[in-house]
Formats: sequence, C-alpha cells, structure tokens
Amino acid sequence: MTTNPGGGFETLAIHAGQEADPLTGAVVPPIYQVSTYKQDRVGSPRAGYEYSRTANPTRAALEECLAALEGGARGLAFASGMAAEDCLLRTVCRPGDHVLIPDDAYGGTYRLLARVLAEWGISYAPVRLSDTRAVRAALAEQRARVLWAETPTNPLLSIADISALAEIAHEAGALLVVDNTFASPYLQQPIALGADAVVHSTTKYLGGHSDVLGGALVTADTELAERLAFLQNATGAVAGPFDAWLTLRGVRTLAPRMDRHCENASRVAAMLAAHPAVAEVFYPGLPTHPGHDVAAKQMRDFGGMVSCRLRGGEQAALAVCERTTLFTLGESLGGVESLIEHPGRMTHASAADSALAVPADLIRLSVGIETCDDLLEDLRQALG
Ligand code: PLP
Repeated sequence: MTTNPGGGFETLAIHAGQEADPLTGAVVPPIYQVSTYKQDRVGSPRAGYEYSRTANPTRAALEECLAALEGGARGLAFASGMAAEDCLLRTVCRPGDHVLIPDDAYGGTYRLLARVLAEWGISYAPVRLSDTRAVRAALAEQRARVLWAETPTNPLLSIADISALAEIAHEAGALLVVDNTFASPYLQQPIALGADAVVHSTTKYLGGHSDVLGGALVTADTELAERLAFLQNATGAVAGPFDAWLTLRGVRTLAPRMDRHCENASRVAAMLAAHPAVAEVFYPGLPTHPGHDVAAKQMRDFGGMVSCRLRGGEQAALAVCERTTLFTLGESLGGVESLIEHPGRMTHASAADSALAVPADLIRLSVGIETCDDLLEDLRQALG
C-alpha cells in the first residue's frame, strides 16, 4: 500500500497511500487493528511490519498521504499534535539549545517549552515573526536551533512570511519548523517555501469532523525523518489504527471542506468588521489585515478561523460565547460544525500572565460549513 499517484491536490488526497487493498479489493485502506504480525522466519516479517508501535499499515497510508499533500519526503502520524511537537523538539534540540517561537504562539506550544522542555535545559524566547528584522536580531542575539513559526497563528491570525523566515533561519544555522494547522496543506505548503518540517494538529482541519485526535510531522528530507521516526518508535506516542483511519477519511474531503470554510469565514469576517459591537477583527482575508499581502502570496485562500475583540470588554466576550446557538461553545477548531470560544479563559489559559497572554475581550470562531446565512444570523443575535 505505497502509492503516490501524482496529480493535483484533490487526487492526492483521495489516492496517495490509498490504493485498493491487494487482498480484498476494498477501495479504502482497511483498519489494521493489530499490534503484531506473523513472521515466516525469525527476523523476516512478511510485509515489513513487525510491531504496530514501529509501523502499522493504516497509519502508513495516512503518513504517505500527508507527505504527498505537504510535498515532503516523509510523514509521521502521532497520537496528538502535542505529541508531534514534543517528538520534533526533543529530536532536534539538546540541553543548552534555544528555540524562537511566535509571540502569539498556540498556548500548548508555549506550555511545552516553558513548563516541560525548560526543565530539560531547552530555552525559548518569543519574537514577532511578522517583523523579519526582529527575527534576525533575535537569532543574532542567541543562536537558536529552531525557528518555530505558526502562520496564521492561533488565536490572533497573524501572518509570517515563510520564505523570508526560511532564508533568515538557514543563514543563522537554524531549522525552520512551521505549524500548518490553521492553513492545512490545501491552503499553504511550507516545505515548498523553504521550511524544513511541518507540524500539524490533525485533530483540526485534516481530520475535519471533531471526532479524532491526532498529530503529524512532515519533513523536507529523509534524514530528519529517520531521526524523528526513531524517537517516535522509542517513545511511542503513535496514532492508533482507528484514529489514523478516521483522519484519512477526513483528509479525502479536505479540499472542498476548506473551500467552504474559507467562503463562510470571509463573509463572517466582513459582517463582524461592520458590526458596532466589534472593536477589531482578525482575519487575513481582510485587506486591512497587516499580513494580508503576505497571506495572499503564500496561501491559496485565507482560512476558516476568525477572531475579534469586543467593545464591551471581557464580559461582552463571555456573553457572546454563551449566547450563540449554532456556534457551539467549545475548544478545538477545524471541524465541519462552527465553534466559538474565549481563548483567554479556554485554549490559551496556559499562557495567562505571560508575554503570550491574549486579550480578555477576544473571541475566536472556527467557522464551519453550515449554511452561511444561518451562521451570520446566529452571530448577529448573539452580538445583540
Ligand atoms: N498547534 C495548533 C496551532 C493548535 O491549535 C493545536 C491545538 O489546538 C495544537 C498544535 C496541538 O494539537 P493537539 O490538540 O492535537 O495536541
């Protein structure tokens, strides 16, 4: 089951890694719910599989498909996005190494560095990635092993220029890693822009149905992938067969779902921008967004996430979160259903009281693929 048929994005999403099962002709890869494999002779597994922590055919199908979609050399699928991040950072960093992260990084990435890896001697510093001079200066001040980018960022939707960052990172001898969760490979392919590795929470758009947790790493070269695969096998935070299967099922429809997410989100952003209760809208598709031109250059479209600040402060933000009926109040994002949340008290609570704390009057919307007029109506009634 190793196939990359080539072709366009939608073809790869449906066929890469997913040829019909050679035994039965099943048109989708079966769920190989198995831990171990029969060996004909000692040390010679039939199809290369010996134990599912090391490799499993359903997971392999997902990994191959993700590598094809990101245009990378190899993909690895994990139990969650955080497991993927942890594997990457502990593979490439040693005690004494330094990591630069966005000054509005996802709260979990910040917590991993500040509360876990810091205890193992890996330091970090936040930097504004849209300011390439600041990134250059930070790299000159303390040599970093990794420049960690997220674009668009969670939850402030700021945009970083991936090709500019790749050049700056490589000049300074650092690896450029891009968390591509918000964009998905359909909208943005960081490896083609010079990134060394891409990270995903496949829990989000790739899975797409809020029914499975997962993470992925895709690398530009096989050497880094082999080092990552070693730690993945050594520590074992792999995607289970059913989770890999569910994620792959989601991936097949990524392109049409993303088109609809983008279409709905751009209408939601426009409505919010004109609403008197809203102080500021964060959506890279708005021409007023400071990263709009860079986003237009490196993304196919502007994504399904929209954040905004409310004129009424934190209380107004909390009230809106509790008044919507179609937008479900909940963490996570990227599913077909619309979600609303208060980052300061929910997804980004781990960054409270730090340099990465988010504004208290901020709400974040994961705009789903429902009928857009219904979504607009729900938000209007909630805003009052
Ligand atoms: N990266 C980003 C941008 C995220 O939004 C998330 C989760 O919200 C993660 C990484 C972590 O992924 P997971 O929750 O699958 O561990």
